[in-house]
Order: sequence, then C-alpha cells, then structure tokens
Amino acid sequence: MSNADAIADLKDYIRDVPDFPKPGIMFKDITTLLKHPYAFRSSILQLADRYRSSGITKIVGIESRGFIFASALAYEMGVGMVPVRKLGKLPAKCVQETYELEYGTDVVEMHCDAVEKNESVLVLDDVIATGGTMLAACKLVEVLGANVTEIAAVVELEFLEGRKRLENRPFFSLIQYR
Ligand code: AMP
Repeated sequence: MSNADAIADLKDYIRDVPDFPKPGIMFKDITTLLKHPYAFRSSILQLADRYRSSGITKIVGIESRGFIFASALAYEMGVGMVPVRKLGKLPAKCVQETYELEYGTDVVEMHCDAVEKNESVLVLDDVIATGGTMLAACKLVEVLGANVTEIAAVVELEFLEGRKRLENRPFFSLIQYR
C-alpha cells in the first residue's frame, strides 16, 4: 500500500472558510489538501485511475486552482495540459466564451491551437458551484471541434445543482457536499 492509499476520506483535507470572499459564502479551501503530501497525491491518483484508459489526450484546467490539479493529472497520465484563462491573459490567438456571474458577466479564453478536432478532452476544476465556469470551458473545447469526454471537479457543491447546467455532458466529482 502506498501512502496515498492510506487516505481514507479526502473530505478530511478540505477546509471550510465561512464568509469568504463575501458574507454568506462557505468557501471550500483546497490548500489544506494541497499542502498534505499524501492527500494531494491521492486526489490525483484517484483521477488518474479513472481516466488512464479513457483515451483522453488533453486535460483542460480552469484558472487558477484548476491549473494545479490539471497539471498534476496531465503529468501523471502523460497527456497534455491546456489552460483556460480569464480575458486578456493568454498571448496567442484565442477563442472566447462569455458566461453569467451572480452580478454581470465574465469571459474565459483558450488558445485556438490548444486542442485538435475530435480530440478527447477532460475539463477539470477544483470546485463546481453553479457550473457556469465549467460550461463556458466546455464550449471553448467544443467550438474548436474537440470532444468533452468528461468534466471533473475535485469538490462538488451538490446543493447548487451545477451538474444540471452541464446539459448532459458526463460529470464526475471526487468529493460531494449536500
Ligand atoms: P461556478 O461557475 O459557480 O461553478 O464557480 C466555479 C468557480 O468558482 C470555481 O473555479 C471555484 O474555484 C470557485 N468557487 C465557487 N464557489 C466556491 C466555493 N464555495 N468554494 C470554493 N470555490 C468556489
């Protein structure tokens, strides 16, 4: 048994921070999982076990905490990692997607040459809340002709029903809060 196998419940390593970034929000802080050598490794190995034989050749990570998990998973699986970033951060030609926030809208971008037509892609973030960010990332992948084979989050806030917003695309989470 490796040390990562000894992690019984990843939930034990997620910290609740009340009223962050504003009153009424219970923030799910993944830095407590990241700083633990076996818990972080366990989260990546669990995802790698699920996707190793899936034919996925790119992991799309969403700015910024999604980058951490997507990079480690891509490295572990021996596939490419693609960043989805907020407007104006990526240097080369991009596709853009606008999505709704609680107040107003935001824009995410991905490089036009980041994925190939018909490529199998996993879209990954640390937390899915309302699902708006995940959906926008999927649309960037799909507009370039690649396939979203699955969408994954380390933490799912089930009560916000984000997965419903993903319009029947396959979805998986490691940790759920009801
Ligand atoms: P959403 O588009 O509503 O699914 O929001 C997803 C993004 O916001 C993710 O990138 C999360 O990192 C972040 N986020 C939203 N709500 C929370 C929360 N309660 N705790 C931690 N991160 C959150």
